[in-house]
Parts: sequence; structure tokens; C-alpha cells
Amino acid sequence: METKVIKVTEKNMDEAMALAGSLIKDKELVAFPTETVYGLGGDALSEGSSAKIYAAKGRPSDNPLIVHIADFNDLERIVSKLPPEAKLLADAFWPGPLTMRFKKNDVVPDKTTGGLDTVAVRMPNNEIALKFIKAAGGFIAAPSANRSGRPSPTLAEHVKEDMDGIIPLILDGGPVGIGIESTIVDLSEDEISILRPGYITAQMIEEVIGKKVTLDAAVDGVSKDAHPKAPGMKYRHYAPKAELILVEGEEKHVLETIVDKAMNATIAEPIGLMLKEKHAEYVKSKLFKIPKEAIIIKTIGNKDDEAAHELYKVLREFDEENVKVIYSESVGNDGIGQAVHNRMIRAAGHNILNA
Ligand code: AMP
Ligand code: MG
Repeated sequence: METKVIKVTEKNMDEAMALAGSLIKDKELVAFPTETVYGLGGDALSEGSSAKIYAAKGRPSDNPLIVHIADFNDLERIVSKLPPEAKLLADAFWPGPLTMRFKKNDVVPDKTTGGLDTVAVRMPNNEIALKFIKAAGGFIAAPSANRSGRPSPTLAEHVKEDMDGIIPLILDGGPVGIGIESTIVDLSEDEISILRPGYITAQMIEEVIGKKVTLDAAVDGVSKDAHPKAPGMKYRHYAPKAELILVEGEEKHVLETIVDKAMNATIAEPIGLMLKEKHAEYVKSKLFKIPKEAIIIKTIGNKDDEAAHELYKVLREFDEENVKVIYSESVGNDGIGQAVHNRMIRAAGHNILNA
């Protein structure tokens, strides 16, 4: 299959949407930009389309897909119970990087929800995404548009790397804004909990609904044996080809440890370092005796939101390099830092070195 990439502009918007919409109605898949990462979209109400998504990604079929909508009123068509918090949260955060989980009704095929009786729904904050969802009939099932286990795509080029020849169309909307996936909050049970951290934090949700929000035990990344409610959280994810080791602790010790490890690098066996921008020069200066080609440094900005934006791109870039091991600085563990930290731990397969 030939994969067409359309750079979507104001000028060709209607034409692109007409093509994308008709492909979805023909039960084909279309990759599209959102504000979090690129999604791989299919008709959420069609079992066949969802099956195609799992096949294209090579994704385990027990890992459910998020349903994307463009109109709050469409929620009623797919959920069996709509708690009052849904409206409050939608008013505050939709369109935006918040996914809410509800009890589903029979309109949503089991295939879309990986056999669960719940459905996760969100409204993305991206003009192309919203127009595409409308053109496609209102309900788009979409996981991230990467092959299973690879870092999520934050550029259309990343989608092309993973999906070339597998899907007919990629809508290119340029780089995404946030760079990591949405927060998932569970409204299907009495106790409201975060199943996956993201840009919208538990505190932001608590402020809107006036209720306590807990964190699913599998989220903190430390309890790797916990049984997560979001099935995707149990898989090693976002993983680069090289072994990734996350170095944690006091900043000074972290940098010392990273320098110490990098001393072993040789031209034959280079070592990758993922660092905050402000630390790159310092680390380089400490490694002046090591041949330049033996150390591959990539930076993830300085602030947590910059790390969110850069993380997957940098992990993909490392895949292009001949490194077998990458040492990375960690990030803070609050606000969006918590979400980035969660993705880093999972990319590292819980491989943490305490400095
Ligand atoms: P992705 O968009 O690729 O990050 O994949 C969707 C994520 O949402 C996965 O981690 C799923 O496990 C999670 N998810 C989707 N639907 C549900 C649901 N009904 N219950 C729990 N987690 C869900
Ligand atoms: Mg994903």
C-alpha cells in the first residue's frame, strides 16, 4: 500500500478532510495530529477498523483504544452512565489533553475497548483533529501512531517511519504541542483516579470537581508489579532500541555518576547521554579525554514541559545512532514532570540507577 502524506494547510483543509473522512468510512486508517502526539485513527464504532488498528501497530489486543470525539453531546451515544463530573471536566479541559473513562454501552464494540466494559474518551485540542473527527462521522478510535513499543510520534515524519506502506494516509499538521500522551482519569467507578498521568494533573482535576482524586498504584512507576487499570501501562513502552538507564538522585551526584559511566565509552562502543541543556557543556568538559565520537549527547531542554516536548523525538534519534546504552538524567516528579517521569521510567523498563 502506498502511504500518502498531506501537509494540511488552510487552503487544502476541505479537500484533505473529505479524503480522510471517506477513507475512515471505507474502514481504512488515517494518522492525524493532536496536541499530545500523533494518533492512528479508525472508525471507533467498527470492529473491523479497530482490528486493523491493532494489526497496524502490532499492538496486543487487550490494550484498549481511546475514542476521540469533537462534540460533548456525542458522549451520550457511547457511554451507559454519564456522571456529573464529566461535564465539569469537559467545560474546564476539553478540547484538551484529558481522557475520561466511562462505563460503555453496546454501540462501542468490545474490540475497541480490548474487551473491557469501559470506554476512554477525549476531545483533542487541534483544529485538524477536530475537523477530521467530524468529517469521519464523529467517533475516531486512536492510539498513538507508532508501532507498538516504539516512542510515540510527535512529528508526521515519525509516523512515516513506523507506518509507511501500512496505512493509506498521514495528515501532517507539523510538530505537536505537548509531546506526551493525555492524562487518563477514571470516572467509571465511585473512586475517581488517574490511570495515566499527563499534562492535566490530579490537583487540576480536584480543583474542578471538588473531590479527592487518587493515583492508580501502577502510575508512580516504582511499583512495577502493580496491576494497572489502564492495560497499556503494563507494557514496556516508548522504548528506544538501546538499553536506557535512568539516573536518579541529587543533581550533583547524578551528573557525577553519568560522567563516571561515560568514561567507559569507546569509539567501538559509544555511549548515549540524555541531559538537560544546562548540563551538557559541563558533562562534555568532564569527558575531554574521551574521543568525541564515543559520546553521543542529546538534550531535552531544561524545564519539564520542554522535556515532555523533546523526549520521544530524542529517543527516536538515539535509534539512528550506534549506541547500545543510554544514561539519562531524570526530571522532577510533580506537574507535567510526573507524566514525563512516568514515561521515562517505562522507556527505561524500570532500569533505575540511584546516584
Ligand atoms: P495510546 O493512545 O497508544 O497511549 O493508548 C491508549 C491508552 O489508553 C493505553 O494505555 C490504554 O491502556 C488506555 N486505555 C484506553 N481505553 C481504556 C479503558 N477503557 N480503560 C483503561 N485504560 C484505557
Ligand atoms: Mg501509545
